[in-house]
Amino acid sequence: MAATYKPDLGSHCKNCKADLDDGDIYEKLKSIFYFLYDDDEIRRQARCHGWSKDNGLRFSKEQIVYSKDKKFTVCPECSCKYPLKNNL
Ligand SMILES: [Zn+2]
Repeated sequence: MAATYKPDLGSHCKNCKADLDDGDIYEKLKSIFYFLYDDDEIRRQARCHGWSKDNGLRFSKEQIVYSKDKKFTVCPECSCKYPLKNNL
């Protein structure tokens, strides 16, 4: 599962400084699913990720990892782990 973040919080890894921005959630879903779903359905799915036109939530390249009692995100560049931010 992909992590998300608010555009004003920035998306660089604190450890290796990699840019983890994976694009606006709606635009990203549209680029993947445009041939499967109409615009309303893509917007609905974007909202399921917490996206709205106003918050402009973006996907992060970090992956969310669920272990027994913890959730954290992992940087794909340096494998550094971070506690999961409340990103919704
Ligand atoms: Zn990193």
